[in-house]
Amino acid sequence: MNPTEHIWMDGELVPWESATVHVLAHGLHYGTGAFEGIRAYETPKGTAVFRLTDHMDRLRRSAKALGIPFGYEVEELVDAVKLVLRSNGLKSGYVRPITFYGTGSMGLNPAGAGVHMVIAAWEWGAYLGEEGIQNGIRVAVSSWRRIGHNAFMPDAKGTGGYMNSVLAKSAAIKAGYDEALLLNEDGLIAEGSGENLFMVRKGVVHTPPTSAGALDGITRDSVYSLLSEDGYEIKETQVTRTDLYYADEVFFTGTAAEVTPVREVDDRDVGDGKPGPVTRRAQELYMGTVKGELDLHPEWLEYV
Ligand code: PMP
Repeated sequence: MNPTEHIWMDGELVPWESATVHVLAHGLHYGTGAFEGIRAYETPKGTAVFRLTDHMDRLRRSAKALGIPFGYEVEELVDAVKLVLRSNGLKSGYVRPITFYGTGSMGLNPAGAGVHMVIAAWEWGAYLGEEGIQNGIRVAVSSWRRIGHNAFMPDAKGTGGYMNSVLAKSAAIKAGYDEALLLNEDGLIAEGSGENLFMVRKGVVHTPPTSAGALDGITRDSVYSLLSEDGYEIKETQVTRTDLYYADEVFFTGTAAEVTPVREVDDRDVGDGKPGPVTRRAQELYMGTVKGELDLHPEWLEYV
């Protein structure tokens, strides 16, 4: 990770190395926070942040669901993100807003602890590797189940919930795979450790619903619209592990992962083991849109 110059912390820009928190911060001990992952791209009309307002609105919703006070208007945070990108001279990059409880309470009840809001940005390439984007990645079903709606909130981006993703991701890497695939407690596909899943079978595109334990991904929503508007039949479907073994194509979506083909599930080739035509089309449509080369959804590009 290449440090940048400034991080926005509770309303002001501070030098990268001064953006620190106390070791007794509540969020550090109990994972009481919510965060976002956003990308900015260089476009022909200048740097644009992809669906920035939607990401900041999801942060507001996550905080609401988790009961974390949210002392900002979405528009103020949108402006703060643009300021962070400008002040660091970033033409493209990854943006990480996070809100969390600081010091003031050490019991589980966070009342009395201050709430912080931080926005950092830095340059970040393909999350699952350039080779993964080109040729596809190898994934395996994890022995860890996706956190369920009765225990936490898979559809809120709460920091504590990510221990679930970290366990699944590290086990997958250790076993020689590129990424983990998490089932929910009913044995249905939820998502990757940090990506939503799509599957193509007999010409129809399917993605599991958020009720299956998937995050309401903004890339998922974008790719869903782009493929549907491009004429593909696409729907939310409960997906089993066997469905993936029979699938013609599988791919992941996410802000960090963008559109990454999956070439193997549990040591079985997906289709003929190469990214298929729908996956390639989804990549073209998504990357063309975020980079402002296609004018399909100009409202998704928020210029810095
Ligand atoms: N699922 C999980 C668990 C994630 O962390 C992410 C990344 N935010 C996604 C899905 C993809 O969401 P998005 O497209 O909004 O980045």
